[in-house]
Amino acid sequence: PVDVLTFGETMLTVQLPGPLAVGADARTTVAGAESNVAIGLARLGHRAAWAGLVGDDEPGRLILRTLRGENVGTARAGVRPEAPTGGMLRERRVADLVRVHYWRSHSAASLLTPAALAPALDDGARVLHLTGITCALGPGPLEAAHEAAAHAHAHGWTVALDVNHRQRLWTAEDAGKALLPLLEHVTVLIASDDELPVVTHAFAERPEGEERAVAALLDAGMREVVVKRGEEGAALHNRNGSRHTVPALRVPVRDTVGAGDAFCAGYLSGLLDGLPPAARLTRANTLGAFAVASDGDWEGLPRRDELELLAAAPGTTIR
Ligand code: ATP
Repeated sequence: PVDVLTFGETMLTVQLPGPLAVGADARTTVAGAESNVAIGLARLGHRAAWAGLVGDDEPGRLILRTLRGENVGTARAGVRPEAPTGGMLRERRVADLVRVHYWRSHSAASLLTPAALAPALDDGARVLHLTGITCALGPGPLEAAHEAAAHAHAHGWTVALDVNHRQRLWTAEDAGKALLPLLEHVTVLIASDDELPVVTHAFAERPEGEERAVAALLDAGMREVVVKRGEEGAALHNRNGSRHTVPALRVPVRDTVGAGDAFCAGYLSGLLDGLPPAARLTRANTLGAFAVASDGDWEGLPRRDELELLAAAPGTTIR
């Protein structure tokens, strides 16, 4: 069994330093919330497997070989000739405003079903990592996520869910309704502070405010609720009543996209290493900071011997 199993949509990603134009410089990469997390974990030496679907095309092949090159297990990933790999274009429209365009409807990844995922589940894992994005891709992926969560729960794995709400894909109300049946299987819920209402919205009694939302989630059976707070850092609320907050690292901001996924990789790494709560948050914040301070979603994420790198004084040259 692997340490962490995850699955979802990974896309060909083209990043432009300015608006879309003929002949514009572009940087090509691959990105997807779950594969970003898998890469972050693999770089820290954990065994991570990604079991999503790609098309039988060049972007699909690029995704699989990139993941393999990062030591992410792809033995249970699938290739579907009947649909294309999804794509994304990211324009830096002006200095700190990024606009994203997607080509993902009817993509290969949206063909995921519980049957397609079954072999990956049979392999076993210590942790299952899910995101709300996959649940939004369609009824098949939602059902696959739900069955995976039920299977993992029944087999005693830790089940992590990053709410990762994407307004482009569905409304907060639809997300809340769809995610509600998953929550009974979730051990660790990860959300940014503004995403908490998405998951508590569907409760009969809608709790207002972060404290009450967290209390409602812990009452619903979760062991831990982890709240991402951007440049302020993060908080962890434990079912046993303990509560921890750890400030973010101070780093120059390059590209904030991917910070949440990096954070998840750091948190899960801390869980796998058996770190105490505050140290888990510190590792999560550290990976989030690496993502923010480098270009790309995952390209700048650290290997294990680089975890202390951000403690160096700004402008340091390591010789
Ligand atoms: P995204 O969806 O863009 O990937 P998110 O909204 O899920 O991100 P954030 O709360 O913005 O997540 O960031 C996740 C974590 O990354 C934070 O909890 C923090 O640890 C780190 N982080 C984010 N922004 C900064 C920053 N400006 N400086 C340092 N660390 C940051």
